[in-house]
Amino acid sequence: MKHCIIVGGVAGGATAAAQLRRINPGIRITIYEKGRDISFGNCGLPYNIGGEVSDRDKLIAATPESMAERDITVKTHHEVLRVDSGAKKVTVKDSSGDREFEDEYDYLILSPGGAPKTLPALLNVPQAFVLHNLGDLDDIKAHIDGHGVDKVVLIGAGYIGLELIENFVRRGMDVTFIHRSEEVYRPLEDDMGDFFIEEMERQGVDVRLNAEIVEVTGNAATLDNGEEIDAPLIVAGIGILPRTEFLKGSGIKLNDSGFICTGDTGRTSVDCVYALGDAIETFYQHTGGKTTVALAWGAHRMAYVIANQISGNEDVVFEGLLGTNIMRFFDYDIATLGLEQHEVLEYDHFIVDHRQRNKAGYMDSSVPIHVRIYVSKTDGKILRAAVVGTEGVDKRIDILAAHIRLGGTAADLANIEVAYSPPYSSPKSVLNMIGYKTIEKLKQFDE
Ligand SMILES: Cc1cc2nc3c(=O)[nH]c(=O)nc-3n(C[C@H](O)[C@H](O)[C@H](O)COP(=O)(O)OP(=O)(O)OC[C@H]3O[C@@H](n4cnc5c(N)ncnc54)[C@H](O)[C@@H]3O)c2cc1C
Repeated sequence: MKHCIIVGGVAGGATAAAQLRRINPGIRITIYEKGRDISFGNCGLPYNIGGEVSDRDKLIAATPESMAERDITVKTHHEVLRVDSGAKKVTVKDSSGDREFEDEYDYLILSPGGAPKTLPALLNVPQAFVLHNLGDLDDIKAHIDGHGVDKVVLIGAGYIGLELIENFVRRGMDVTFIHRSEEVYRPLEDDMGDFFIEEMERQGVDVRLNAEIVEVTGNAATLDNGEEIDAPLIVAGIGILPRTEFLKGSGIKLNDSGFICTGDTGRTSVDCVYALGDAIETFYQHTGGKTTVALAWGAHRMAYVIANQISGNEDVVFEGLLGTNIMRFFDYDIATLGLEQHEVLEYDHFIVDHRQRNKAGYMDSSVPIHVRIYVSKTDGKILRAAVVGTEGVDKRIDILAAHIRLGGTAADLANIEVAYSPPYSSPKSVLNMIGYKTIEKLKQFDE
C-alpha cells in the first residue's frame, strides 16, 4: 500500500488528507502536525474574540479522532525536522515523547504554512501574543480573563491586525493601535483607504501612527518617541514568514524568500513531493507571473489538485490565483484582486475609476460604492481591481474574479446582465459603468 505523509494538519494539510481519502480509499495517509490542534478555521479566530463566533469549538472542523474514523492517522505534537527526498523519508520529532524517528513515504505533501512575525521588543514579554492558531486564541482569552484585562495594544495594519481591532472593540476593550508608518492596509490604494483612521477614531481607538514599541517593562510599553503607554495585553499582526527551514538540504527548491516553488500540479522540484498553502510560491491566474498568496482559497483548491494528481487524475491542474480577498472593517468592506499595486507598474496600463450608489440611488438605503480597475493597454484585460463600500462589495469582487477567470475584458463588463431591482442594483450597475468608461477611454486612445 502506498504511503502519503502530510506535513501540517490545518487548512492545506487537513484538506489534502480529506480529499485524498475521498478519491483514493487504498492509500495510507499520515499527518504530522507539530502543534496541538488540527483542522481549525484560522479565519474565524478573530471573530471568537469579538463574539460573532460565540462557540469556540465550532471553529474545529476535524480532530485526530474524526480523522481516524476516515482511516487517516494524525500525529499531533510531531514536528518534521528533515526531509530526505532521495531516500523518500522524513525525520520526525515527537515532542510529547521526546524522541526522534524516521518514516518513509511514497508521496509527501507539504503544508507547513507561515510563522507569524513579531517585534524584537516583544520577545519574552508575557503579555505579548500573536493570533495564528487555536492555542493563541485560548492563550489570549485566558490572559484577558485571568488578569481582568480591559485594554489591548494592537500592532500591525494588515488584515489580521485590522480584524482584531474591530473584534477587540466589539468585545468592549479599549484599543490602542500602533503602526510604524501612516500607510494602513497596504493592499489597498491609499486614497481609497482614507476612512481607516477616521473609522478607528470614531470607534474610540487610540491611534498612534509613525510609532513603534521599543521596550516593555511590566505592563508599560515605551514607544520610540519616549512615551510610555499602558500595555497589559499586546497583540501583533505583522505578517508571516514561510515555515520552510526544515526543507534546507532536502533538494526541494525554495525561492529567495524561502517559499516552496510549485507549478500547476502542486508538485515541487522533486518527484512525489507536493506543496500547498501559505508556504508556496505559485503564479497569477491572469498573467502567469510568480506570486505568493497567504489566503485560504488557494490552499483548498490546491489540496483538490494534489489529491487528484497523486491519484492519477493528471488532467486536474491548478490555474493559479488572483489573490481575491475581502475584509470587513466595522461598516466598511474592502476587497481587491489581481496584481499588487507596484506590480501593475510593470505593465502598460490605464486606470478606470467609478463611484456610484450600490443600488438605485433613489432608495433611502443606497450607499456609495467605489470601484477601480487597472486595464492592460495591450489586451484590454483587467490586471487589478479594488472595491470599497459598505454594502455590495462582495458581489462586485466575486463578479470581477469570475469575469477575469473566463477571459472577460474590462470593456466586456458593460455586457454583464446584472440582476436588477432597486434594493439590489441599478439597470446600469457600477461594474457596467466601469465597462462603459473603459470603452470611452479605449476610443480616446484610438483617436
Ligand atoms: C487570524 C487569521 C485570520 C485569517 N483570515 C483569513 C480570511 O479571512 N481569509 C483567507 O482567505 N485567509 C485567512 N487566513 C489565512 C488562512 O488561514 C491561511 O491561508 C491558511 O490557513 C493556510 O493554510 P496552510 O495549510 O498553508 O497553513 P496553516 O493553516 O497555518 O497550517 C500549517 C500547519 O503546519 C504546521 N507545521 C509547520 N511546520 C511543521 C513541521 N515541520 N512539522 C509538522 N507540522 C508543521 C503548523 O504547526 C501549522 O499548524 C487567516 C489566517 C489567520 C491566522
